[in-house]
Amino acid sequence: MQQIGRFAPSPSGRMHLGNVFSAMLAWLSIRSCGGTLVLRIEDLDPDRCRPAYADTLKRDLEWLGLTWDTEQAPQSRRSEAYREMFSRLEERGLIYPCYCSRTELHAASAPHASDGTVLYAGTCRNLTPEERAARTKAPCWRVRVPDEDVSFTDGVQGEYTQNLAHGCGDFILRRADGVYAYQLAVVTDDAEAGVTQVVRGSDLLSSTPRQIWLQRQLGFPEPDYYHVPLLIAPDGRRLSKRERDLDMGALRERYTPEALLGLLAHACGLLSHSEAVRADELAKEFSWRMVRKENIVIANP
Ligand code: GLU
Ligand code: ZN
Repeated sequence: MQQIGRFAPSPSGRMHLGNVFSAMLAWLSIRSCGGTLVLRIEDLDPDRCRPAYADTLKRDLEWLGLTWDTEQAPQSRRSEAYREMFSRLEERGLIYPCYCSRTELHAASAPHASDGTVLYAGTCRNLTPEERAARTKAPCWRVRVPDEDVSFTDGVQGEYTQNLAHGCGDFILRRADGVYAYQLAVVTDDAEAGVTQVVRGSDLLSSTPRQIWLQRQLGFPEPDYYHVPLLIAPDGRRLSKRERDLDMGALRERYTPEALLGLLAHACGLLSHSEAVRADELAKEFSWRMVRKENIVIANP
């Protein structure tokens, strides 16, 4: 089967070392099997995303030699498609409006999901039509999840199982301001582009059962998943966008593209030592078996 992979960056800032790492592995995975790569700009959240960042992102990927074959419409222009998927779920009675305030959701007694986020208590799950009509606040919209385990085998992290009711709870599909949620958008877009492999940071591992469950509800095929290790500082913190010295603006001043790829390839187990290398040279030897799954400490890049 022809493999289709994707880059799905969010234009909420300059690309960071961690984004470069995920993009490099997505590129190597698809190039090493002769597949094609789709670029999709995930500018779903109008408050956080800027068109100028999207342009810079593309220039940075090109500078690295991480090329793509086609570009999908950016998420900000796809709300029609998301609306349709939302309606399909709504017709099946899976969606309901939630009127809870932030404070209600974050009540101290609230149980927590596996990733530390607050589990939704189900307060608005069974409101009557009269109770709904009495609310004046614009609601967000949640999907009703079953008390069911969703399992998959990740190509890097191995077996992963989450019980939707206890591990994440009824989750938001559309915000009160009308913006569709990442979980719905990503599933809709990956299916439309025919994506067969998803390579991304392991911070999204716990989102994957939700996405697989949505794929099943909507009759979409399930791609293969590869959740790559995160880059962390020596004190165990995740390297973040706040660290300016690790964004592409600073990195491009200090490295050649080949030196930067070599550093990352060495850090994850693809090279025995850090040496300048082109992406296409790495692709010749690439195998997921070589990629370590533990997070990677970056001391002084
Ligand atoms: N847009 C997300 C990010 O930049 C990635 C989403 C995904 O790969 O599914 O973190
Ligand atoms: Zn609610």
